[in-house]
Amino acid sequence: MLILVANLGSTSFKYRLFRMDESGGEVVAKGGYERVTDHASVIDDALATLQRDGVIASPDEIEAVGFKTVLGKDLSGCVIADQQTIDALEGFAAVAPAHNPPYANGIRQFAKALPKAKLVALFETAFYQWTSPASYNYAIPKSWRDIGIRRYGFHGASHKFIAERSAEMCEREEVGQIARRLYLDGPQTVSGKPFRVVSCHLGGSSSVTGILNGVAIGTSMGFSPQSGLPQNNRVGELDSGAIPYAMRTLGISLDEVERQLTKESGLLGISGVSNDLRDILQAAESGNADAQLSLDALVHSIRHWIGAFMLELGGLDALVFTAGIGENNAALRERVCDGLEGFGIVIDPAKNDACRAAEADIGSAASAARILVIPANEELVLAREVFRKLS
Ligand code: ADP
Repeated sequence: MLILVANLGSTSFKYRLFRMDESGGEVVAKGGYERVTDHASVIDDALATLQRDGVIASPDEIEAVGFKTVLGKDLSGCVIADQQTIDALEGFAAVAPAHNPPYANGIRQFAKALPKAKLVALFETAFYQWTSPASYNYAIPKSWRDIGIRRYGFHGASHKFIAERSAEMCEREEVGQIARRLYLDGPQTVSGKPFRVVSCHLGGSSSVTGILNGVAIGTSMGFSPQSGLPQNNRVGELDSGAIPYAMRTLGISLDEVERQLTKESGLLGISGVSNDLRDILQAAESGNADAQLSLDALVHSIRHWIGAFMLELGGLDALVFTAGIGENNAALRERVCDGLEGFGIVIDPAKNDACRAAEADIGSAASAARILVIPANEELVLAREVFRKLS
């Protein structure tokens, strides 16, 4: 089955074409466009390019298109992308303004460009649909909860892949199967010991998720992507009392608060240097105290959430690092694990340093929990889920 995975940004369109079957899948083509003003024309251009390059004889060969949609109002899971999906995305466009409008439009465009293909949306919130009401409810009035304000969680495709792959790497095949089939069968009981994972997705945007037997029990991300860990330029956790205080004291409007919290906060906000960790590392090395502070705050927050989920899971079998920072930054991984020997987390510094954006076990022989680096592959997760859904 040929499945096109569409990655839509407000001014970008990237795609990967997968050939999928029961045994797995492979990428047969990929491409992308930046500074896009008209998504319809670049989608047509991508399909024409695939044809011209001989990858497909006709666009009709593409049986399905997968969309990694972020946040739907009253809708989650892995669903056929139809008008209900578009309405759900538009219903929360104000909460995820960078993500929802391009996907709503992209689904419309693909429905026109590939009328015979099945369109499938996998919401980033899907992995958290079995978390407990105690973990996803905020302590707010009922009228707020009634309009959909709760913890949703994001990076679901990435953390679900970690649930699958970490189980396989720890020889827990049964848990791996449960995680793989989660959106079809729901959570399943596991024979033998529980399998407890804390997954750290550390990239441009970051979150930590606790996973029990292949199913998320909670995550650091909340109602919007402005929550949890310090993000690249978006605020992470913030006391709600800070917003009225800043508005009154700085004399700024609500729109300005929103702009500053979504564009000038996070690692950029603290460091004043950059939203890219590589620049921050360089500045910290040359003695910039604010750059160092932003690194320290990131490490502090990662450890805070790891601790929270270890407690809730009643222990830990695997600690996983994934995404741009998690895969590439050995020094940060070492700092996250520093002093956790008493909790059975012991990193092997040599293995950690030798790991370069590839799957690796970086725990020492003395570590009770496995410490794993697993490269993120969200497009593959999409292709797999679309394939499972349609077959
Ligand atoms: P996105 O969330 O945008 O998909 P990524 O998962 O690619 O982002 O992560 C981007 C982040 O990863 C950036 O902060 C970047 O600095 C960081 N990163 C990438 N490579 C390295 C590296 N070699 N060392 C440290 N940080 C890195």
